Amino acid sequence: MARVNENYAKLPGSYLFAEIARRTSAYAEAHPEAKLIKMGIGDVTRPLVPAVVEAMHAAVDDLATSERFHGYGPEQGYDFLREAIAQHDFRARGVEIAVDEIFVSDGAKSDCGNIGDILALDNVVAVCDPVYPVYVDSNAMSGRAGDYDAENERWTDIVYMPTTAENGFCPEFPAEKADVIYLCSPNNPTGTVLNREQLSAWVDYANENGSIIMFDAAYERFIVEEGVPHSIFEIPGARTCAIEFRSFSKTAGFTGARCGYTVVPKELERDGQSLNAMWNRRQTTKFNGASYVIQRGAAAIYTPEGARQIEETLEYYRNNARVIKEGLEAAGFEVYGAVNSPYVWCKTPEGVGSWEFFTKLLEEANVITTPGAGFGPHGEGYVRLTAFGDADATVEAVERIRAM
Ligand SMILES: *Cc1c(COP(=O)(O)O)cnc(C)c1O
Repeated sequence: MARVNENYAKLPGSYLFAEIARRTSAYAEAHPEAKLIKMGIGDVTRPLVPAVVEAMHAAVDDLATSERFHGYGPEQGYDFLREAIAQHDFRARGVEIAVDEIFVSDGAKSDCGNIGDILALDNVVAVCDPVYPVYVDSNAMSGRAGDYDAENERWTDIVYMPTTAENGFCPEFPAEKADVIYLCSPNNPTGTVLNREQLSAWVDYANENGSIIMFDAAYERFIVEEGVPHSIFEIPGARTCAIEFRSFSKTAGFTGARCGYTVVPKELERDGQSLNAMWNRRQTTKFNGASYVIQRGAAAIYTPEGARQIEETLEYYRNNARVIKEGLEAAGFEVYGAVNSPYVWCKTPEGVGSWEFFTKLLEEANVITTPGAGFGPHGEGYVRLTAFGDADATVEAVERIRAM
């Protein structure tokens, strides 16, 4: 008889967004006149920019001719895209990344979720709390997380690193030795960034302990402050201890189009094995490459025109983030993130839990947020608001909250 992967049965239900949807539709049914504004979703809303759309159209036309038809492409991605990435995302910032260290994929979620394929099951995994759930759940599925302790909302074998206002949203080194450490900067959900000193300390920790840092830089394009690292490879020593995930989703509105990439440096070795060679083997075996059309569209963001156009969209979201941050601060709230990120992490009023505050915002301002507790126990006491919405709706939402 075939047996299943028993780890799946241990996974708790994806309670957070289901519960938000349940509470929201119950409210909407009872108050059909209410004009709800959604600031909970982590998805973009602005369309693909013209340069990207034109490149995709042209690529479709390529596929329609026998001369320019493309079948299976390189599993690692086309050189036209990998070269543009190496040049514009890295060399332009003084970081040398070779084309064969870049693996193009259908998005950062797949890569974050799949990277564990090349790692042993007995590695100790450390994550921030609160956290993007993919890092935890993917390790749980492969049996690296132990059992789920529902009462404490924690997996028995995962090391949780509190990331809160008290420690400046920089996790402290765990008491137990961690082998695989997931860091995300700019962070989802807190919207905060790790500065150069903080990231350098983590790189040193990883090199001293033989750990690997999984660095998720999906929100890199939102960084505006000087001096904030855009890539972990700006930090000396990172090439022997880090893997970096990037995505075109938040950068250029590709959440529906799907494209991302992962950088695995050639110096990264463990147990005498090159992780670059292992990831190459994993991808060439289990993945047949991102779509030609989508890769052409992704490459268009590196043209002068495309770069200018995506910058306009990013500025639209950044402005929303400013509106939310300044409005909430004017209303007396303690607010984090927002500056280098589309996420605003708002402290709930004294003594008000994050689900309670979610409900208050829903009922009194008709604004939908995400309760911080849904991202982990240390998210309790916060809600997350996103800047991915319509600009006018964002202004109105903030006015409603201020009037509460
Ligand atoms: C949105 C997001 C991603 C990007 O995922 P894609 O699969 O590329 O759309 C990765 N990491 C985090 C933390 C995110 O929020």
